[in-house]
Amino acid sequence: MASSDDRAGAARRPRIVLVPSAGMGHLAPFSRLAVALSTVHACDVSLVVFLPTVSSAESAHLDSLFAALPSMSRLDLRLPPLDAPEFAGADPFYAHYEASRRSTPLLLPPLLAGADALIADISLASVAIPMANELHLPCYVLFTSSATMFSLYAYFPAHLEAATGGGGDADVPGVGRIPRSSFPQALRDPGNLFTQQFVSNGRSLTRADGILVNTFDALEPEAVAALRRGDVSSRPGFFPPVFTVGLLSPVSFPAARARAPADYTAWLDAQPERSVVYVSFGSRKALAREQLDELARGLEASGCRFLWVVKGAVVDRDDGAGLGELLGEGFLERVQGRAMVTKAWVEQGEVLKHPAVGMFVSHCGWNSLTEALASGVPVLAWPRFADQRVNAGVVARGGAGVWVERWSWEGEEGVVKGDEVAEMVKSVTRRLGRRQRASGRMRPGPSPAAGRGTGA
Ligand code: UDP
Ligand code: UDP
Repeated sequence: MASSDDRAGAARRPRIVLVPSAGMGHLAPFSRLAVALSTVHACDVSLVVFLPTVSSAESAHLDSLFAALPSMSRLDLRLPPLDAPEFAGADPFYAHYEASRRSTPLLLPPLLAGADALIADISLASVAIPMANELHLPCYVLFTSSATMFSLYAYFPAHLEAATGGGGDADVPGVGRIPRSSFPQALRDPGNLFTQQFVSNGRSLTRADGILVNTFDALEPEAVAALRRGDVSSRPGFFPPVFTVGLLSPVSFPAARARAPADYTAWLDAQPERSVVYVSFGSRKALAREQLDELARGLEASGCRFLWVVKGAVVDRDDGAGLGELLGEGFLERVQGRAMVTKAWVEQGEVLKHPAVGMFVSHCGWNSLTEALASGVPVLAWPRFADQRVNAGVVARGGAGVWVERWSWEGEEGVVKGDEVAEMVKSVTRRLGRRQRASGRMRPGPSPAAGRGTGA
């Protein structure tokens, strides 16, 4: 018979504290990990919430998550306002990272009593790792983008030291060349808040107990192998174990489904299989006015069915413009019947699984790409910012999407004209149709017309 100690041991579930940072691109994978740890791996999970959140999307998501997972405890940390002049005009998500970074070592330790491990977002790495080391608490980092992007992240401090004249392309050991043109734009400015965080976090990684990446080995074999060998380390001979934990499964909560407008689901239900182009540029940025106009023109001229999620401002709370104002009077009437355009939050994981969806015009946020991969929906890549060029390269090389490299950074590569958008959407749709007929099922792959993206 088991002793009382054994019984206590058997009953004790490991307590894991998760520390995500700002933005749905970070919160969504943490939620997925929380659900997996609680329901599959029998852990007691606590989730840290830095308040106030930047976007309403995050607040709504948190409400749904805690309602769906009542066993998870919520650890709220209220952030002091970042009102110093240096933060005026900063990207609100990066400013939130900075406020969270400053508060973590002061406010988090009292909440960690009884914890067995901490899993922190990459944006907090250089504050969370030393804090946990001091408390003798194992500390893991969840990297919410691709393994290829992570290799750049980890190698970047060494790249800066090796580089002269401000640095050029990065030759990441074991991974290959990542052109400077694919780095997050902010990294060109050493004084940028994001750059300082990026370098400091990159240096700290060697002291983590492990790194979790939302990818799988076959998707990025070179990057994963280089990470596991520690080739990318900024401190030769030291690199923590790297675990590929992807693809983390999207979770859909009843409360979120109830909040989502029903019209797009009903509309999708009425469309033929694989006929709809889904268009979304994620939760972080709005397209510039001129590009928005050209995209509208292109989608209209393509003659295709489409579901388009339009974002008019960086932060959803500031996004007051109506669709008519954003897209021009008459647009919605002209595409009526074959298109659904919304400014609402859609449950994207579900949209991509819907049988009517045949293609995804995506900004290449990593979560969006993992959702497309998991649903077998091919991607027309249009990276705009941050890690998205590197990710576009991953998806194009992996044969799950098409990337014309000129379709890229906001403002720098020029505006992609409506005619070109229309031609590309039509050509990818035609090719997919042919493949579907030939094989009886759709398989994504690169377009000969487009060439393959090689941005990373
Ligand atoms: N998302 C969603 N509905 C929307 C917009 C975004 O569900 O209307 C989700 C999307 O499925 C993904 C996350 O928000 O899980 C965005 O993360 P991603 O890394 O794709 O891009 P980011 O928004 O960080 O640029
Ligand atoms: N990132 C970074 N420095 C940080 C926090 C994040 O470089 O301090 C990484 C992030 O994990 C991703 C890329 O940079 O690889 C873009 O992240 P960001 O949060 O800017 O964009 P999002 O994920 O919200 O689209």
